[in-house]
Amino acid sequence: MQEKQTTAIGIDIGATTTRVGVVTSDGRLLARRSAPTSRGARAADELIARLIDDVTALRPEAPDRTVSAIGLAIPGLVDPNTTTVRRTVNAAFLEGDWLVRELTARSDLPVTLQTDIAAATWAEFQALATESCSGIIANAGATAKRSAAVPPRHRTDDKEPSSDKPGSRFAHLRFGTGIGLGVIINGKPQPVEPGRTTHARVLIVDERDDAPLCPCGLRGCLELYAGGTAMVSAARSIGLDDGLPQLEQAVAAGDVFALELLDATSGVIVCAVENITRHYAPEVIVLGGGVLEHLPSLWTRIAAPVEHAIPPEAYRLTRRVAAQLGDKAGVIGAALMALRAS
Ligand SMILES: [Zn+2]
Repeated sequence: MQEKQTTAIGIDIGATTTRVGVVTSDGRLLARRSAPTSRGARAADELIARLIDDVTALRPEAPDRTVSAIGLAIPGLVDPNTTTVRRTVNAAFLEGDWLVRELTARSDLPVTLQTDIAAATWAEFQALATESCSGIIANAGATAKRSAAVPPRHRTDDKEPSSDKPGSRFAHLRFGTGIGLGVIINGKPQPVEPGRTTHARVLIVDERDDAPLCPCGLRGCLELYAGGTAMVSAARSIGLDDGLPQLEQAVAAGDVFALELLDATSGVIVCAVENITRHYAPEVIVLGGGVLEHLPSLWTRIAAPVEHAIPPEAYRLTRRVAAQLGDKAGVIGAALMALRAS
């Protein structure tokens, strides 16, 4: 007898874009919608109205038109096992439990709340653990931008176990508008944030007392140097006003300032990866997010130094893998976590 396919709706409220999709329990994204994240005085009203509109429009895309849950991912802190958004850095209107209450009441579906990085980490972990997301991987391939210096997912020329399972210790470092770290140990997502802030301390790459202050409240966070907002701002400071694709072009053209910027950025990323490796000793580190997708030349700069920095005898199994799911990871992970909880 064929097992009944369960389906959930994933909602990923990003700093710039809100994505909603219908996702099966094996991680297939059947349909999705996206729009700029609401801003301004009426942001809360606009957001809930649009989300309900999206959920209503997407529900018929599910097999048998049955959706069993909604997974909601937000950029900030959530109270574990509750419906309350405790703190957001860039979208204060999301704080409190109003969004989960409204979504539950108006969709008549159970809603599970998590952080965006937890959702994306779960999706990438599941994608690596199974081949069931292959259709999505094929779509994401165009943006994965693996460089020749980054080992492919399935190495045949090494002595490491050939299993596709991501191992018992998995880390995901995601470079979006901000930067997030997710860790899964023995199949369980770990709370890596210290509670009062949105960044893990292993992401501090500048420990000087007068290091720049991050919006999360700590000084010297990786986000200040390699997050999307920081990179766009740094590119502008060297006369590149059209964002990361223009920075990538300038690097390819040998622009000396662009090269300096990328070298500095890769240096702090390598530092953070070293911190993560020392702290969590992951068997796999997945690096992903829009910044890396727009700047493939960062890959070539990161790969060799990280390889060099990690003692092979200490971290024999450590591998770096390009994220597979691109900007779909949050939606897929939110839905899969909702199905897991339901
Ligand atoms: Zn921070």
